[in-house]
Amino acid sequence: MTVFGNASFDHHEQVVFAADADSGLKAVIAIHDTRRGPALGGCRYWSYADDAAALTDALRLSRGMTSKAVMADLPYGGGKSVVIADAARPKSPELLRALGRAVDRLAGRYIVAEDVGTSPADMDIVRTVTPHVAGLAEGGGDPSPATAHGVWRGIHAAVTHALRRNSLDGLTVAVQGLGHVGLHLCRLLHGEGARLVVTDLRPATMERAADEFGALPVAAEAIYDTDAEVFAPCALGGVINDGTVERLKARIVAGSANNQLAEDRHGARLAERGILYAPDYVINAGGLINIHHERDPRGYDRERAFAHVGRIEQTLADLFARAAASGIATHTAADRMAAG
Ligand code: NAD
Repeated sequence: MTVFGNASFDHHEQVVFAADADSGLKAVIAIHDTRRGPALGGCRYWSYADDAAALTDALRLSRGMTSKAVMADLPYGGGKSVVIADAARPKSPELLRALGRAVDRLAGRYIVAEDVGTSPADMDIVRTVTPHVAGLAEGGGDPSPATAHGVWRGIHAAVTHALRRNSLDGLTVAVQGLGHVGLHLCRLLHGEGARLVVTDLRPATMERAADEFGALPVAAEAIYDTDAEVFAPCALGGVINDGTVERLKARIVAGSANNQLAEDRHGARLAERGILYAPDYVINAGGLINIHHERDPRGYDRERAFAHVGRIEQTLADLFARAAASGIATHTAADRMAAG
């Protein structure tokens, strides 16, 4: 396993390997860039194939958080942590406190929050050992509804740009992943008259989407072949890859998952195929924006937070226009804007 030679290392300021024998904690905390402010990013609790996979995930996710904060114009840097775990087994409070102590040793350079596999209730436990934590149950709570709101507004920007339509009524959206974000997104899309095709690894959640939103459940692999105007990846990263990019029938890719492009060249291929891609770290910034409002000294105000999240629509409209004017792919336009 190489660290500095990792393709996603990209000048990380600090990478910490944290372990605790008593609780079994094994974690990587990656701090990419603190020039704008403390590195803020969630903690992923996941069953990684090996330590190298965990490191790569932490580095890629943390780098993405730097770009996300820039594009949402927030005073944070990029960071992320991952816990190498058996995700099927429950987390112990001891492990969460050990994670909190590892975060605390960084003295505020990194602020932890929830991500896939962790929850606001987990962050409340982390809070007992460090103040450098956000996304608490008692604060703004779960950031996922805010993330879904931003994705929904982002889909609007994409539909306006690519399809010249200002409503989602009658359009079909294929949603991959019905977790915290995906289900909220389905509710918003359904409320506006969109037809839904959905998939998840958990049959019960697909049944719920079918009952509540009239969604059509399909097998995990079939989602890529769905006849839909929009493909919304809301599960894990890397789903736009050699095996999927040629299969997509959608005109738009716009969803919450981080690191949707397996490699940059897959973003270029989407553009060549005339598929509009809403860059992940722009469209999924709603949760980060919500956490920023949770930290507002005036107190959390949901209306103010969601109005801020809604600005993602204009950010994306500007980005799509800029990419079209320069004849470049949208992920390249976003990377250039994020780099300043
Ligand atoms: P989650 O863990 O609650 O949900 C993910 C869902 O995807 C689960 O229901 C899981 O069963 C399903 N899934 C996993 N692999 C799948 C596959 N191959 N096919 C179909 N379904 C699959 O996570 P979440 O909080 O909803 O986040 C979803 C994505 O959005 C993640 O990539 C996350 O990093 C990203 N994101 C989330 C937030 C947030 O506020 N929660 C913010 C920014 C980005």
